[in-house]
Amino acid sequence: MTLADTTQATVATGWVEGAEFRGSGPLHRVIAPATDEVVATMSLATAADVDTAVAAARRALPAWSGATPAQRSTVLLDFARVLDREAHALAVQEVSHTGKTIRLASEFDVPGSIDNVTFFAGVARDLVGKATAEYSPDHTSSIRREAVGVVGSITPWNYPIQMAVWKALPAIAAGCTLVLKPAEITPLTTITLARLASEAGLPDGVFNVLTGTGAEVGAALAGHPGVDLVTFTGSTGVGRQVMAQAAVHGTRVQLELGGKAPFVVFDDADLEAAVHGAVAGSLINAGQDCTAATRAIVAPALYDDFVSGVAELMAGVRVGDPTDPATDMGSLSSRHHREKVAAMVDRARDTGIRVVTGGHVPDGPGAFYPPTLLADVGEGAEVYRDEIFGPVLTVSSFTDDDDALRRAGDTVYGLAASAWTRDVYRAQRASREIRAGCVWINDHIPIVSEMPHGGLRASGFGKDMSTYSMDEYLTVEHVMSDITGIARKDWHRTVFG
Ligand code: NAD
Repeated sequence: MTLADTTQATVATGWVEGAEFRGSGPLHRVIAPATDEVVATMSLATAADVDTAVAAARRALPAWSGATPAQRSTVLLDFARVLDREAHALAVQEVSHTGKTIRLASEFDVPGSIDNVTFFAGVARDLVGKATAEYSPDHTSSIRREAVGVVGSITPWNYPIQMAVWKALPAIAAGCTLVLKPAEITPLTTITLARLASEAGLPDGVFNVLTGTGAEVGAALAGHPGVDLVTFTGSTGVGRQVMAQAAVHGTRVQLELGGKAPFVVFDDADLEAAVHGAVAGSLINAGQDCTAATRAIVAPALYDDFVSGVAELMAGVRVGDPTDPATDMGSLSSRHHREKVAAMVDRARDTGIRVVTGGHVPDGPGAFYPPTLLADVGEGAEVYRDEIFGPVLTVSSFTDDDDALRRAGDTVYGLAASAWTRDVYRAQRASREIRAGCVWINDHIPIVSEMPHGGLRASGFGKDMSTYSMDEYLTVEHVMSDITGIARKDWHRTVFG
């Protein structure tokens, strides 16, 4: 089957044990949210299909976890080469089911994913432990790092290919096998990814994909006794359900959840840079980004110029056909999600919040929503406190640095933040006092494979990307050996004389 086939007519539900898998559940349509057209039809997987996929992953585990790091690395380097060959087709497919722009998909999502694969091909060969030493005179200690086992991963719809790669690659590099459930509205590139991994030589059963609903397949995977680790990216509410499902079997979990990133502009900031950063940081992926700039907190001296600068730039953003390389912002991921975004903005307007630009659902096909700026937003407002997950930026002011940092940290989330200042001390103070997994200084959004991504509090725990993520997928086993023969006799005498 070619890549083009997966975007037409009836397609497979997933990829299990190195082959296409057709689910035993009801028919499901994958919709192009930019046009409302049907992109693909598939049969959803069921809880019984989860048993099949987990069994396949379990069968593949001994050989894959027993392969040498070099063997695993070689396959992953081949995988990166296959992905590179298919980069354009992957970007086109990603646009079809998400509505994001081809520019973003081909300059960010796909190359970022390929870079992640290459990075983890290297990390696979670096399974070091921290202690290998003689901490007792009669013993020597070493650390074995073993694959945790079978991983069950559940991913969201905003960055389907990147989220799949962030979950699958450290797992595969560590020697784990996995069953990944993409969001059912955007499953196509995750299935393609697993197929291309097989083509690159990844053994059957290492990387399995099943498309199904969260309520059935997600819940079955998270609560499956054959799963050793559950990794999840999605909303905070569902993340808590996943944690409860996993707790039934005491299964460990890693959760990447929501965010409400503050964007703090101090009075010495480069205003033009901050305005551009705010527009790019709030509109990337139509604002459907867990680290997106959502709450601009701006010094009084710059406030009016910041608001007018952002409004002017937002008004010039080209929203429309995501397949056109000139388009800056595509549609939201579904009409259902647009209703949620629009309702939050409508409620804000009803409570007297100033809608500076945007804020209205356009006529016509597709789940489009315009760049929207809400000004003079109070700390108690719903749009200030809750995740909107759309192209909406709120702006508020502050009195002094203490107040700015207090406001920045006054959220249940702790995923990302940025501080805009030319003063190195202010910048360092902001990075220390804002509790978040990532604090950008004079920028917002850039990520690299080498650096960890993951939050605190309602944003979850554990890391994606970087060598830190490997700790999720590897056990730490202490091996202690008697090296003298004396230790044993002394120690045994301590117990029974
Ligand atoms: P969601 O929580 O609705 O769904 C995520 C996944 O969970 C989907 O695959 C869904 O089918 C599945 N699911 C739903 N109910 C389930 C259940 N009861 N049991 C098991 N699985 C279930 O999230 P979404 O709407 O797809 O994505 C948007 C959310 O993801 C936002 O909150 C965003 O902040 C978050 N997100 C976080 C990060 C991060 O790295 N922290 C990255 C991207 C997105």
